[in-house]
Amino acid sequence: MKKTLGLILVSAALFAAACRKPDGAAAPSPTEPIAAFPEPVRYDIRIDADTEAGTIAGDCALRIRNAAGAPIPVVPLNLYRLMEVAEVSDASGARLAFSQGVRSFEDWRELQVNQIRVGLRPPLAPGEETTLRIKYGGPLLGYAEAMRYVKDHVGRDLTLIRTDSFAYPQVGVPSWRTNRAAGLKDFDFAVALTVPSSLVVAGAGRLVSRDEKDGRTTYVYESKVPSWRIDLAAAAYTVLEGEDGRFRIFAFPEDAEGAQALLDSLTVTLALYTEWFGPLGGFPGLTVIEIPAGYGSQADRAAIIQEADAFKDPARRYTFYHELSHLWNVPAKDPLPPRFESEGLAMFLQHLVQEKLEAKAGAVGEAAAGSLSRLAKNFGEHPDWAKAAMIDYGEKDLTDLSYRMGQILFYLLYEKLGERSFLETIRSFDQAYRTSGATARQFVAHVKKQAGVNLDRIFEDWVFTPRAAEVVAAGISLEELRRRYL
Ligand SMILES: [Zn+2]
Repeated sequence: MKKTLGLILVSAALFAAACRKPDGAAAPSPTEPIAAFPEPVRYDIRIDADTEAGTIAGDCALRIRNAAGAPIPVVPLNLYRLMEVAEVSDASGARLAFSQGVRSFEDWRELQVNQIRVGLRPPLAPGEETTLRIKYGGPLLGYAEAMRYVKDHVGRDLTLIRTDSFAYPQVGVPSWRTNRAAGLKDFDFAVALTVPSSLVVAGAGRLVSRDEKDGRTTYVYESKVPSWRIDLAAAAYTVLEGEDGRFRIFAFPEDAEGAQALLDSLTVTLALYTEWFGPLGGFPGLTVIEIPAGYGSQADRAAIIQEADAFKDPARRYTFYHELSHLWNVPAKDPLPPRFESEGLAMFLQHLVQEKLEAKAGAVGEAAAGSLSRLAKNFGEHPDWAKAAMIDYGEKDLTDLSYRMGQILFYLLYEKLGERSFLETIRSFDQAYRTSGATARQFVAHVKKQAGVNLDRIFEDWVFTPRAAEVVAAGISLEELRRRYL
């Protein structure tokens, strides 16, 4: 797995603290434990990209709320490891004391961030909000050492600013587990990105303005709906629109033809999912932003950043179906979700859509067989992975396995229930929990109740015990699997 499990103690010496002390106030200790941290409510960010130097200069107003029960004296922020904070001030413009220093995540040693600690005077009382203004900047060179897909950088070919690279300050500490347990909070945003005028800025959200000055253009986007992430990309994009501007696709010029096909596919795929799972309440339209292969596709309520292969190769369009299916996901309520209920379902649906829209008969079974052999290899290389139950994958940092193990689980449920009942069960789950969210256990309980057939053995083996992992590790074939569970 990409993350390590054991807690690695980070020595204070690793923390090269640079403390600013405006007005004589002491900067917060860089290593002091943080009892609670606030939630982001709104971002207003202006970013100037120097595509020659590969750097950005950012000015970030971050509105935060104390949703905890006790006052919050110190706000911890994670920022990209090579970026530095120059100044932090409060809403009145008064400078705030802060410390900063590069730290490794305690549970993911390869992942380093600049951890910033901002002292609030007075501490933020429970229920209160305040705004921090953070001036920061520096080079953006990706996270090859921790997240191979985060190749985010600032250049004329592409400038990519997104949540994954910490290219803007994010509330949190250098601990994957702690940040995930705090949850992915939705916020509103307005983001401005200034780039050479030869480039087009793509943003998840509504384009508010576009101003050109001295050969540089500033694009301002604001959120259409609250989101947990910010995605901004600049390149020589071609823009396509559909459905009266509700759908926008930003594509690299060489993929303009593929983008048109993808736009058509977007319309029919959303129609198919809507037929299966019902209409999306408050659907704000969708922006699709092309990124190069290997950069990692991402889905959000209003935007998808999509790797180029789905544009270039019709046979790879299933990756786009995958991302679109996430629009129907119920919010996860587990502190550390196992993710089979989202990623496993998306992996299954991407091939079911292939069968329906591409007349690719047998795609679902073929993909399940492929995943079985891939998993057997994974378990062969890491026998300890086969000792975990899927329900614990979030806790045990094994969610990469949820994609394919989850895919097989949904394959079995689909075959056991039949298509109609299967889709109806997913639909009713979505409708019941769309607003409130659900835990993975609630998902299982709902499916069991709706199914009308006994699914105890499937869920026991595949979700609650490591039994499925053991049989997959032993190299079970799809035929044997069918005999065993159907
Ligand atoms: Zn996914």
